[in-house]
Amino acid sequence: MLNLILFGPPGSGKGTQANKLVEKYSLLHISTGDLFRYNMKNDTPLGIEAKSYIEKGDLVPDSVTINMLKAKVNENPDVAGYIFDGFPRTIAQAEALDNFLKEKGQNVSGLLALDVPDEELIKRLLERGKDSGRKDDQDKSIIANRIEVYNKETAPVFDFYKKQKRADKVLGVGSIENIFERLCSMIFWM
Ligand code: AMP
Repeated sequence: MLNLILFGPPGSGKGTQANKLVEKYSLLHISTGDLFRYNMKNDTPLGIEAKSYIEKGDLVPDSVTINMLKAKVNENPDVAGYIFDGFPRTIAQAEALDNFLKEKGQNVSGLLALDVPDEELIKRLLERGKDSGRKDDQDKSIIANRIEVYNKETAPVFDFYKKQKRADKVLGVGSIENIFERLCSMIFWM
């Protein structure tokens, strides 16, 4: 199985690239952000709980997020692999994912981190906010908080996998096609 973590700050293009990778490698795309938004739209208890964190640009607590992720994987056992997009975002989530996959006789094949400068992230997020209606993409202070949370809580996840020689950076600027080719050439070696 190919179990790929597509990593990077908000606005680095994870969702866009995940959609292309899914087609090429027939993987299941699991975006925890999309799962939360689906639950928020449908006013489920999970959505109501997540909303207060997401609106501020804070992380939803680990236990809630990890259980949601596990349920999604368990609902879809017969796939060629998974692309985890927006997960893991903390060391606790990374450890939980490793243990969870290990119990299934699987592992994380690798983590690819899209590298994009902060100014470009802010520009992209504000642009996306105009069309998507996502409130967390429309407010500069919420965007700044998301980037700060990424640097403080999520960036260490890269080092966690780097120590295990399972993480690499990929330049996330340029055309969508060029970035996609860079990702595919890294996946070739996994
Ligand atoms: P995203 O669509 O990945 O940018 O996620 C949108 C928001 O959902 C984030 O700003 C967090 O509030 C929340 N979220 C998504 N994934 C996670 C996660 N793995 N852990 C905690 N919160 C998350």
